[in-house]
Amino acid sequence: MNAEHPTTAGGTSSQVRQGRSDLNNSNVREDLARTGRCAMVHLPTGRICLLPFRHHGPCEFHRPQEADDVMSGGH
Ligand SMILES: [Zn+2]
Repeated sequence: MNAEHPTTAGGTSSQVRQGRSDLNNSNVREDLARTGRCAMVHLPTGRICLLPFRHHGPCEFHRPQEADDVMSGGH
């Protein structure tokens, strides 16, 4: 007696848009970005790109400590 099927044929357009991690805001350190850096954060490691904004080539991720070093007046 399996006459009762769960009604799953209802929701078709359930596109939940949450966390567009592709876009800049969620994974860019704003304080660094304000200094003209790429400031892209590699979320799995927490490392930060210290290259100039709109640099060519791939990001180079550095430790957050290095980022703070640059922020605090490194050369
Ligand atoms: Zn970068």
